[in-house]
Amino acid sequence: MTRVFRIAHNGEPRHVIEASGVWRLLEGDLFGPFRPGEEIASTGHRLLAPVLPSKIVAVGLNYKDHAAEQHKPLPAEPMIFIKPSTSVIGPGDAIVLPAGAGRVDHEAEAGIVIGRRASRVPEDQARDYILGITCVNDVTARDLQRKDVQYTRAKGFDTFAPVGPCIATGLDYDAARGLAVEGFVNGTRRQASSTGALIFSIHRLVAFISSVMTLLPGDIISTGTPAGIGPLSVGDIVTVRIEGVGDLTNPVAGAA
Ligand code: ZN
Repeated sequence: MTRVFRIAHNGEPRHVIEASGVWRLLEGDLFGPFRPGEEIASTGHRLLAPVLPSKIVAVGLNYKDHAAEQHKPLPAEPMIFIKPSTSVIGPGDAIVLPAGAGRVDHEAEAGIVIGRRASRVPEDQARDYILGITCVNDVTARDLQRKDVQYTRAKGFDTFAPVGPCIATGLDYDAARGLAVEGFVNGTRRQASSTGALIFSIHRLVAFISSVMTLLPGDIISTGTPAGIGPLSVGDIVTVRIEGVGDLTNPVAGAA
C-alpha cells in the first residue's frame, strides 16, 4: 500500500509519496507520468487536501442503517448530488458553521479518488479508474436540506467538504468485510460501519455515475454515510477515520 499526501513545501503545494514509512516528493504529475524524488521528513508538514477535485459526487442513503435513521426508504438506484469544489478544505482546516443555518451535521464517508478520465465505465473495469481511497466529511446543514428539498445549499457551503489526510492506494476496499469507516466527535465514536455494508458498491458507483457524467482525474465520489450522524457545535473536533487511510480531523468554528 502507498499513501499520497499533499503538503505545503517551501510555500508550494507538492504531492508526497509515502512508501514503507519513507516520504518522497513526487516529481511530475500525480495523474500523469511521475517518479518519487527527494526524501523529506515525514513529520512537521502542513497537510493540504490531497486533491483539488473539479467536483465531488456524493451519494445519499447508501447504508441501510442511515436510511432507517432518516426514515427514508431504500433507494432502487444511487441517489447522487454534487458538492462544489469550493467546499473542499484540508486536514486541520476549520469547518465554519454558517450564521442562521440551523443544525449542521457531520457525515463520515469513504471517498473514491478517480485516477483517470472516466466515461461510461463498465462495473467490471471500474477498478482501473480508481486511484485510491480518502476520507470525506460530507458536512450537511440538515435543517436547510429538509427545507430546500434539493441539496445544493445544504451540502455546498464553503468548508463543508473536508478531505484527507491522504489518498491510500492498493487497499482491499472491495473485500467482503470492506474497510472500517468511523466518525468521532470530541473523541467519542459516533459512527462505525464499513465499506462492506454499502448498498451500492464502490465499483457500482463508478459505473453508475460515469454513465451520467464524465469523471475527471482527481474527482471524488463520496460513498454515503452510515448511521450515527449528529450535530456539530462551535469548538467541536470532528474526525473521520478510514482503515488504511488514517484520520481526517477538523475543528468547528462559528461564522466570522
Ligand atoms: Zn453524505
